Amino acid sequence: MHELSITKSMLDLVLDQAQKNGAKRVQGINLVIGEMSAVVDDCVRFYFDFLSKGTIAEGAQLSFKAVPVTARCQACGEEFELEEFNWVCSECGGARIDIVKGRELYLESIEVE
Ligand SMILES: [Zn+2]
Repeated sequence: MHELSITKSMLDLVLDQAQKNGAKRVQGINLVIGEMSAVVDDCVRFYFDFLSKGTIAEGAQLSFKAVPVTARCQACGEEFELEEFNWVCSECGGARIDIVKGRELYLESIEVE
């Protein structure tokens, strides 16, 4: 279910961008996927094939780039990559951190014709 709604909004965004650029066809879609997003790329591909039928994005190649999870310490403001979900600031050892990157899937760019 998670992937279906994500794929749908991703496709809407792609079609919107393609239209603004006057594209006739979308050839490739580059996506960034956060390691914490729990999005399965095979599922996105599957839903994409299904949802894009009959649109100018039908048959487009999806490519995924994984980004590590980045967190920011609430105490000292240090930003660092979370390794193996070690939820402690690498600078001051504080345990109150916010996730700033790596939570979702987003569109990096599209290739159109
Ligand atoms: Zn800190």
